[in-house]
Amino acid sequence: MNEIDPKYLCMLNRKQCDFCYNKSNEYTTTIPLTLNHGYQVCQHCTNVGKHAMQQYSINKHVIGLFQLNRLLSSSHYFNNNTFTYVSINVNNVHERWIIDPTKFIKLRKKKIFFYCTNHIDVKKVSLNELSILNTYINEDEIKDIIYNYLQIL
Ligand SMILES: [Zn+2]
Repeated sequence: MNEIDPKYLCMLNRKQCDFCYNKSNEYTTTIPLTLNHGYQVCQHCTNVGKHAMQQYSINKHVIGLFQLNRLLSSSHYFNNNTFTYVSINVNNVHERWIIDPTKFIKLRKKKIFFYCTNHIDVKKVSLNELSILNTYINEDEIKDIIYNYLQIL
């Protein structure tokens, strides 16, 4: 299958499917990777859409926070609130920022990086650093889930 890029998910024609001509003319749903960014699928293309989403992640070495949320249990810390708050180190002071829902979590040289924001600035923080400052974030658990999804051996 050709790679289909995710798209901006606002102002959509409610019956346009990214993967077929939607001949039955049904309403579609969206599967976001990051906030307002993902795929639009008819009910017949849900699995095709999920597969395209995973393939996009594998090819680009990225995973959206919304994708990660769906791989974690509903009771996981990352799924407890609209925003995922974390402590990060800013000039040697610990501040509460959120994991930026609009940016991809990136895998670079087998290290995982999150983008955190205070709604003004954005800072790239490694999973290792996040797990040290936020003891409820289990580095091995998150790493295993992301590696597994991205099919990293
Ligand atoms: Zn479809």
